[in-house]
Amino acid sequence: MKIFKAHIIYTPDRHHFEVLENGYIAVDAGRVVGVASTCEALGCKDCEVTDFGNRLLIPAMNDVHVHAPQYRNQGLAMDLELLPWLDNYTFPEEARFADVGYAERLYRRFVHHLWRVGTMRAAVFATIHTPATRRLMELFGEAGLGALVGKVAMNRNCPEQLQESVDGYISGMEQLVADCGDRESLVRPIVTPRFIPTCTPELLTACGELAQRYGLPVQSHLSENLGEIALVRQLEPQSKGYGDAYHRYGLFGQTPTVMAHCVWSDAAEQQLMLQQGVMVAHCPTSNLNIASGVAPVRTYLDAGIRVGLGSDVSGGHDLSIFRMMVYAIQVSKVLYQRSGHELPFLSLSEAFWMATKSGGSFFGKVGSFEPGYDFDALLVDDASLYPDDYSILERLERFIYTGDDRHIVRRFCRGREVSCIGL
Ligand SMILES: [Zn+2]
Repeated sequence: MKIFKAHIIYTPDRHHFEVLENGYIAVDAGRVVGVASTCEALGCKDCEVTDFGNRLLIPAMNDVHVHAPQYRNQGLAMDLELLPWLDNYTFPEEARFADVGYAERLYRRFVHHLWRVGTMRAAVFATIHTPATRRLMELFGEAGLGALVGKVAMNRNCPEQLQESVDGYISGMEQLVADCGDRESLVRPIVTPRFIPTCTPELLTACGELAQRYGLPVQSHLSENLGEIALVRQLEPQSKGYGDAYHRYGLFGQTPTVMAHCVWSDAAEQQLMLQQGVMVAHCPTSNLNIASGVAPVRTYLDAGIRVGLGSDVSGGHDLSIFRMMVYAIQVSKVLYQRSGHELPFLSLSEAFWMATKSGGSFFGKVGSFEPGYDFDALLVDDASLYPDDYSILERLERFIYTGDDRHIVRRFCRGREVSCIGL
């Protein structure tokens, strides 16, 4: 058993922080055994204690929606809305991942960057290409980070070189499941229909069947943009709505499911998300950058719908989930104003909880320091932010708002210290 001493902070629920100034945390076999104010309270007399001194120890970040092959476009191409943005910028870049050498170069940078900003788990879209997707999974494995990696299913309404036959998709997924499908592994495949407009009913049916047959989670996009929603209504006239269309194909909570954006989900769709335990990936920067709108996250949380945070690079321009917390709070203030102060804005503890325990729940017992949780943690050294005049919680808030990856000095994923992979 290992014991670490530091200022320990986490959110057991969304309404409050648990803070242990000079606290102790016991970790065994990669999991948290307990936290306490004294070493003795952890049932440990002569244990060796690693003392992290005057630093903050917090759960690591979880990114529940990001596109690895859009990494080169990060910070570019913010002049179009979703559908033309895909056609003009995103699809041409994704087509380049047919070349595994290109994928290796870009994916290595992407995984390194996630590590740098303290994201230890991510739900990731790759492309349709099986070899490049496998390489991305291997890179996550080499780095020691946790990831659900999606070979993307697409066979219509996109360039020909990004379309794959239903049989091709199934056999590619089966190869990835055979090679990387171990349920205990930190890196696993996830069923990833890009979104309804790019998938025929046959392909969506195949996705649902694969998810059920292999017990795989599902990720996709939902109700991001009004043009997209109108297109789905045309393509799936027999469905009651966008979410219902996924549900009919077995892609809406039949296995663990995360849906990105949900900016325009109506009451019926929200009800279905709640009933099916579907997680919303809230992507505040992407929703602003490609002018989709402001997702009513406060309403979702109050309804009991699960919500995590997603960077959504490259619709989003920033990979840091710490930044996403700030943006999530800021955009919630837009709704606060718009509602005539009826809808309260998000608190810091809620944003932190979405980034850690709530988002982390998509990956297992991840994102908290309660007993039994995977020890996914970041050690933050905020010495350069003049911490002497502040409480522990104020130091965390200042780090979230004004700090960056240079303040993250150690990273742990399931108890193992993770060092960066080479570029
Ligand atoms: Zn996305």
